[in-house]
Amino acid sequence: MAAQQSYRIFDITLSRRTSVSPSLVRFTFTGPEVGQMATHAPDQRIKLFFPSPDAGSEASAQGGLDALFEIAKLHEHDWYGAFRALPDAQRPPMRTYTIRELRPARAEVDVEFVLHGDNGPASRWAMQARPGDRLAMTAPAAGTDAAAVGFEWKPPRSVRRVLIVADETALPAAAGILEELAARSDRPRVEALVEVPKGGDEQALAPGAQVRWLPRDAAPGCTHGERLLNAVRELDLAREIRALGGQPASADTDEETRGEGLFWEAATVDDSAPFYAWIAAETKVARSVRRYLVNECGLPKRYITSMGYWCKGKVLG
Ligand SMILES: Cc1cc2nc3c(=O)[nH]c(=O)nc-3n(C[C@H](O)[C@H](O)[C@H](O)COP(=O)(O)OP(=O)(O)OC[C@H]3O[C@@H](n4cnc5c(N)ncnc54)[C@H](O)[C@@H]3O)c2cc1C
Repeated sequence: MAAQQSYRIFDITLSRRTSVSPSLVRFTFTGPEVGQMATHAPDQRIKLFFPSPDAGSEASAQGGLDALFEIAKLHEHDWYGAFRALPDAQRPPMRTYTIRELRPARAEVDVEFVLHGDNGPASRWAMQARPGDRLAMTAPAAGTDAAAVGFEWKPPRSVRRVLIVADETALPAAAGILEELAARSDRPRVEALVEVPKGGDEQALAPGAQVRWLPRDAAPGCTHGERLLNAVRELDLAREIRALGGQPASADTDEETRGEGLFWEAATVDDSAPFYAWIAAETKVARSVRRYLVNECGLPKRYITSMGYWCKGKVLG
């Protein structure tokens, strides 16, 4: 598939672990070919492959990764084909993450992980990871002719108002988005609503945006995404959208769900659009926020990118 050919498998080793906040850890990876990695947008998605949790020993846990590196040599331009070609028992667990920062000149790439417990291979790995640990990553390769893919942050050129709605899994991408916006000379009005597990998870973000932190521990009993939904409902978006010339939208019937079970709806690329919403959170929350914006605020669907980054109670590997 064309979308996969610009990505390839990289052999990466953890060089540093930095605590960003109680719930978020930044991992800096290096590797012989990280200097040839590319990133095209602040929400550039990647896949990480982890040691097998059920293996009896450390050596057999790494066996799936070794097998993946071997078979990838035969499928140089098709990482997914390589992954699929492995027998089920050898296939390492795979999860989706975001490149937080890439420094090709230093052969370093940063990825930030939410620590949500030892219930999944990625979070479990993150809780115990030590420098020297080895993983596999699929990421865009620099210097190919393939189209840049694997990201959804595509703000219209003439955008005047940006709304970011993110939970903790999308905070790494949202932080990068705010950095990119802060560097723009024609900066739109930017508002970011960010739900995190704890008050201590608030972090310094790039200047220029109005950021509203929504820690769940400040509202005991609230469920995942509840604070985000309430905060979106408090915005007077219907009036703003009318002022920007937005047209009322029809009922929200054309939603898509990815094969993995994640909700995923991307805005139509339209450089004349005055408004752009980038939403990434737990899948039901992302869907509810989009429905509210479309059905209650009359926001045209083509202005909204809304993505489920994980699914409560489900393993999506
Ligand atoms: C495009 C994209 C970009 C992403 N970027 C990042 C990123 O940069 N950083 C990041 O931390 N995550 C990111 N995610 C989310 C990450 O892929 C999921 O959280 C993933 O499920 C973690 O895998 P796991 O092995 O820890 O848990 P899984 O094995 O997938 O799930 C085990 C259990 O944990 C639950 N669970 C999963 N994630 C969470 C969570 N965050 N909080 C509470 N419970 C959870 C599941 O519902 C399930 O019950 C991204 C997802 C997408 C689609």
